[in-house]
Amino acid sequence: MLEANEGTKEIAEEIQRRMDQNPDRTHRIGTFGFIELEDTWGDEATILNTARVSTSNRRLSGPEAFSDKDRALLEHLLAEEHGTPFETVWFRFRFIAPIFVLRQWVKHRISTWNEFSMRYRKPISAFYIPDEKARTVNGFEIMTQEQTDRYTSLLETVNHFYEEEYETICRRIDDLRQRGEIPQKEAGRDPYRARARELLRSAMPVANYSDVYWTVNFRSLLNFFNLRTKETAQYEIRQYALAAYDLFGRAYPLLRSTLERTRHREPSGSA
Ligand SMILES: Cc1cc2nc3c(=O)[nH]c(=O)nc-3n(C[C@H](O)[C@H](O)[C@H](O)COP(=O)(O)OP(=O)(O)OC[C@H]3O[C@@H](n4cnc5c(N)ncnc54)[C@H](O)[C@@H]3O)c2cc1C
Repeated sequence: MLEANEGTKEIAEEIQRRMDQNPDRTHRIGTFGFIELEDTWGDEATILNTARVSTSNRRLSGPEAFSDKDRALLEHLLAEEHGTPFETVWFRFRFIAPIFVLRQWVKHRISTWNEFSMRYRKPISAFYIPDEKARTVNGFEIMTQEQTDRYTSLLETVNHFYEEEYETICRRIDDLRQRGEIPQKEAGRDPYRARARELLRSAMPVANYSDVYWTVNFRSLLNFFNLRTKETAQYEIRQYALAAYDLFGRAYPLLRSTLERTRHREPSGSA
């Protein structure tokens, strides 16, 4: 059984704290996955105010001030896919997801990424283990429990490998320092330990979790929802996309209901 490293325990505590403090803006996904809508900028009024720049001096204070005419305009803009007014509303999500999910997510280039690099701290020592639902297609178990146990054991071995090799390198660095063969550590980052982390991170599997801030405007977020909440999207990223959609909808109920009217559907599946 793999024991979580200190940084991973801290992240687990942080996730629990955020879930307790912010239940309407957080979702847990699987055993270690997490998403939070941390911040937003602008609202439905921002969209209409910017869209009316040429046609009116009227400015709305917020969605609560909307008349039927305003709601109809919002629907029209969405239905006709007017682009730029929807770029004026911004979202910042924080999520903790397996690296293979991040590789799909990062393809959504019209957004800003800040990702945990593993250069300054050790990797998150938690990895994705598919549950029964993830392992089953049309009632057929693609990956059996026995295979999942072997998968888990392999990933534990790789995570152990990192911890053990890093410890060995750190002991050697301390030893060489004691003997005066390498310079003493100065304030700030230790270049020897840092290089060890840089080299060893290459061994980390794509099933391991990483930590990301994702900042995105609503137009690009909508494209993400359209592509990644579909049945054709891979199961794991779909869970995150559905959770992000739910968090967006709670923060922007008017925009969500207007969107679902124009698209005549809401994403199916549970977050
Ligand atoms: C089911 C599924 C399977 C996929 N399989 C693969 C795969 O096998 N391999 C793979 O590499 N990717 C794959 N993708 C990723 C996919 O090709 C897109 O890169 C990804 O979905 C991001 O979409 P996007 O380009 O619309 O988003 P963004 O990069 O956020 O771009 C948003 C929009 O901006 C415009 N735009 C952005 N950049 C440019 C540009 N350079 N030139 C012109 N217009 C631009 C486009 O209108 C684009 O739709 C898959 C996606 C899905 C949903």
